[in-house]
Amino acid sequence: MILGMLHVNRRKGESIACRHCDEVINPGDLHALIMLKFGKRGEKAWLVYRRVHLQCLAAWSLVTFMRKSEARAERKGGRPSGTGIALPDEERQNRKRLIRKRAALLRQLVKTDSEEECRLLYVRLKGIRSQIAETGVDLCENMARRSDVSVIRRKLADAQRKV
Ligand SMILES: [Zn+2]
Repeated sequence: MILGMLHVNRRKGESIACRHCDEVINPGDLHALIMLKFGKRGEKAWLVYRRVHLQCLAAWSLVTFMRKSEARAERKGGRPSGTGIALPDEERQNRKRLIRKRAALLRQLVKTDSEEECRLLYVRLKGIRSQIAETGVDLCENMARRSDVSVIRRKLADAQRKV
């Protein structure tokens, strides 16, 4: 199955979220850009593409392959959805939701200067971290790629002492 055309590039311009894990791809980071197709409506044409971390490429490919084969099977009147691979899919969605939530909390943490808020965020982040671990696939710790990693580490460490 052809998923798209694969480019491996360094990120130019602003940092952007990885389509697979939602963590940042920073300027200068080597990452995968997958051209999926050309969209076209009337005169207008555009490229549909996804950017993912190189280390997310395998997982992204698998998820996309599964989704595409499922859609294909449905069109052909194959096995009904909700059987077989529906559950792992659901778990994947759940995990993605948690990771997105965690990213939002980390953004909040970077922004705030309130000790009280830092403490609350620390507790919520800890809860989400264990929920992510419970999905069976723990977080790949890629904090080092964040430009704000030192701010996050310091605030979390401060909050931890005060909880
Ligand atoms: Zn990623």
